[in-house]
Amino acid sequence: MTFFPLPALNDNYIWITENSEQKKIWAVDPGDASVVKDYCQNHGVTLAGIILTHHHWDHTDGVPELRNSYDCPVYGPESLAPDKVTVPVRQGDTITINQVELMAIATPGHTLDHLCYFGEPEHDAPILLCGDTLFRGGCGRLFEGSPAQMLNAMTRLRELPGDTRVYGTHEYTLANYRFAKAIDPDNQALEKADQDAQALRQDQQVTLPSTIALEVQTNPFFRFDVPHVIDHAAQLLNETPASDLVSAFAQIRRAKDGF
Ligand SMILES: [Zn+2]
Repeated sequence: MTFFPLPALNDNYIWITENSEQKKIWAVDPGDASVVKDYCQNHGVTLAGIILTHHHWDHTDGVPELRNSYDCPVYGPESLAPDKVTVPVRQGDTITINQVELMAIATPGHTLDHLCYFGEPEHDAPILLCGDTLFRGGCGRLFEGSPAQMLNAMTRLRELPGDTRVYGTHEYTLANYRFAKAIDPDNQALEKADQDAQALRQDQQVTLPSTIALEVQTNPFFRFDVPHVIDHAAQLLNETPASDLVSAFAQIRRAKDGF
């Protein structure tokens, strides 16, 4: 099972997975219906279903028109049922897409209703559809949840297998790496990841998916327990480094917000 991106809006990706025999696709977080409809028309496929991660408009605005056109199921958080979601999904539920089971992981933080979906296809590396919870080199802003909730989400996600392909929904990588390098300056893996991402962007290529292994090495929001990362974040804020992990994570998040 492979997902590929349809660029949408300013810097969103609508991830698509295709069943070429059935000529059907699934779409994740379609913030813009026209992008998905154009793809279907140009490739002679129809939309089999939609998966949603959270309620923000840039992930859900395309749903009414797509439901209208394709009469397909929409899996997602209960908060969006019944208007947008037809099959509410909760923590631990599994949904089956093209014979692959995806398990919902509740990751409140960016929003309170945020879900990620993790699957282990038989002949392929695992996949994580993570919406605005985890980006390459970053994590979502805390619009609704607390630092403790997002810390829990990061702790849960960084335990996934290292080869898991990580499908975030925004092209924020270069900006994320500018901040990451400021608070994790001697990280060689980060330096290399940044160079790779810059080369991709120069060719107008997508920098995603990432992998859990790469994020463990380079993402400051997975490295909230590395002492020099905590120290540098506190320096940016002109604060004393936090002595507990929740406060340290909160400092890293606030340092990024003001960067
Ligand atoms: Zn969002």
